[in-house]
Amino acid sequence: MMQKSLDFKNQIKEWGVSKVGFADVSHVLPKEYKHLKTGISIAIRLSDEIISQIEGKPTHTYFHHYRTVNAFIDQITLKIAMQLQNWGYLAMPIPASQSVNIDGNKYSGIFQHRTAATMSGLGWIGKSACLVTEEFGSRVRLGTVLTDMELCYDEASTQSRCGTCRECVLACPSLALRGNTWYPGISREELIDVKACSMHMHNHYQHIGRGSVCGICIKVCPQGKMVIKR
Ligand code: SF4
Ligand code: SF4
Repeated sequence: MMQKSLDFKNQIKEWGVSKVGFADVSHVLPKEYKHLKTGISIAIRLSDEIISQIEGKPTHTYFHHYRTVNAFIDQITLKIAMQLQNWGYLAMPIPASQSVNIDGNKYSGIFQHRTAATMSGLGWIGKSACLVTEEFGSRVRLGTVLTDMELCYDEASTQSRCGTCRECVLACPSLALRGNTWYPGISREELIDVKACSMHMHNHYQHIGRGSVCGICIKVCPQGKMVIKR
């Protein structure tokens, strides 16, 4: 199984994925998906140049990039799911960016990409409530495939590496970030007021586009800056 897991990871990376990890997510899945015990988590690195152009507000280019990367993630997760299905397994790609109204919470998808990402060791959740990776900071977007294929699972991330940094908290124009340090199991609400974040984009940047976030917390995060020249 070890070799097959490694080969599969390499294949996924060849399709343009920056980071990939595998986790047993069965205990955090809603009951209707529990038979799909494995989460395949992927991260696509964003364009540093486009993120660096965010100065206090999102740009049209950032908004387009956000949507383009989401579409790319949906293509990759579909490709992964089709490969798994060809091997005889069940597989379900989770939409890259989709909010569904579950029990009155209209800001969440059917399964949190960040949960699969931390459980498969891609990074930790920052005070920004975004996944932060060692290599690229939070300049990534995430995708997930659920499958009943068993793979060699990666070691989960269990600790925040934000330390005393509060750059994202201080920079957030909607005061949505609460400044709390992540640990596995903390509720999203303890990290971020998702409504305040979403309404900020809605109220101020309708002319740029709907369905994305302003991106300032992603831009200011110092993690992964060693690969950024400006
Ligand atoms: S996307 Fe913008 S409004 Fe939302 S938490 Fe980040 S900085 Fe704040
Ligand atoms: S800006 Fe600082 S506190 Fe916020 S996510 Fe990045 S490292 Fe963590």
